[in-house]
Amino acid sequence: MRTTGRTDVAVVGGGPIGLAIAWRAAQRGMRVLVHDPDPGSGASGVAAGMLAPVAEASFGEEALTRLLLDSAARWPRFAAEVAAAAGLTGVADLGYRTEGTLVVGRTADDLAQARRLWTYQRGLGLPITALDATGLHDREPLLAPRVRGGAHAPDDHQVDPRRLVPALRLAALRSGVVLVSAAVRDLAELDAGTVVVAAGCGAAALTGLPIRPVKGQILRLRAPGGEPPAFRHVIRGYNDGRTVYLVPRHDGEVVVGATVEERADHTVTAGGVLELLRDATDLVPELAEYELAETMAGHRPGTPDNAPVIGPLADRPDVIVASGHYRHGILLTPVTAERVVDLLTSGVVDPALAPFTPDRFTRTEHAPSREEIR
Ligand SMILES: Cc1cc2nc3c(=O)[nH]c(=O)nc-3n(C[C@H](O)[C@H](O)[C@H](O)COP(=O)(O)OP(=O)(O)OC[C@H]3O[C@@H](n4cnc5c(N)ncnc54)[C@H](O)[C@@H]3O)c2cc1C
Repeated sequence: MRTTGRTDVAVVGGGPIGLAIAWRAAQRGMRVLVHDPDPGSGASGVAAGMLAPVAEASFGEEALTRLLLDSAARWPRFAAEVAAAAGLTGVADLGYRTEGTLVVGRTADDLAQARRLWTYQRGLGLPITALDATGLHDREPLLAPRVRGGAHAPDDHQVDPRRLVPALRLAALRSGVVLVSAAVRDLAELDAGTVVVAAGCGAAALTGLPIRPVKGQILRLRAPGGEPPAFRHVIRGYNDGRTVYLVPRHDGEVVVGATVEERADHTVTAGGVLELLRDATDLVPELAEYELAETMAGHRPGTPDNAPVIGPLADRPDVIVASGHYRHGILLTPVTAERVVDLLTSGVVDPALAPFTPDRFTRTEHAPSREEIR
């Protein structure tokens, strides 16, 4: 499909979503430009990288859960292909780990809250198994003795977004993608067969879609002596009604996250750090000995229904949106890239994307009559 002269696809945004789309499109022979003044500087530089379709399955979000599961199933092959295309020795170089996730509750109330959710998740047929305190401590002896119980989600994995995005960038460049180091202020600036808006929070200004920044403060701790942390699973904890997650990396890092705030500033607050550290050390007391290596705030690209926006604009079929991935953009990278490239190739929106197309925010399913309005 490579043509001479005009660009086939202009991608706005060089985060994980835009780079993966560009790479996959170039693999299909398309001529692709990615416009971004600072690729990887968006939410992905902050994100924990949990690939957690099961623990993230929430009440009333069945369509989103199906998409999360679809993407999780694509991750092993995607990780292997990215690693190979970037010349890495293997998926471990992406920080890709498959030990699974433990969901834990510290008090009886916490456990009751967690149990409601995993009962719902089990009802959907998802793999999550309850564990008593002994079962939990057998798996992770470092958990605080007071942790009451929990569950094991073996299929919820992790990747390090700070390793993934540079690898995707290299894979894209090696397959012929051209990076343009500039921000796009107006889609009319671009001369391409199709424009893909993969600008995360920046998509709102370009498309008018209801995508908003949802602030998350997050910490990075470092194990003493450069050793790997002494626990292997991702731990998602309920602690006195709050939630926290701990993501151990082989290189000694532990990511502790994250606050969820309807704000757009980048301030790391004393209260935010205090809360995350208290919750982290309540669950794994040994973390108090770790170095506090980094504190940061980033913005998840949130939407009114927490689901991403993937598909053509109703009034501009030559503009495809792939933004608004909220808390799941790392997990959703493979399915988004592969579905968008299928759409670029066939011109047909796959029915699996129907719940996520941009027109869901403007569609009037049922125009009320005057009588109904009165
Ligand atoms: C605290 C926190 C924790 C998270 N944890 C997880 C997790 O564990 N698992 C998970 O799956 N997801 C997680 N996420 C969410 C995830 O980071 C995002 O959903 C994901 O990064 C979205 O990818 P993206 O490429 O769409 O956007 P981004 O990563 O935000 O990248 C957008 C890119 O677009 C560029 N851009 C913006 N506007 C323009 C413009 N006008 N012109 C050109 N370029 C532009 C930016 O420079 C940037 O490089 C987390 C997010 C946060 C904040």
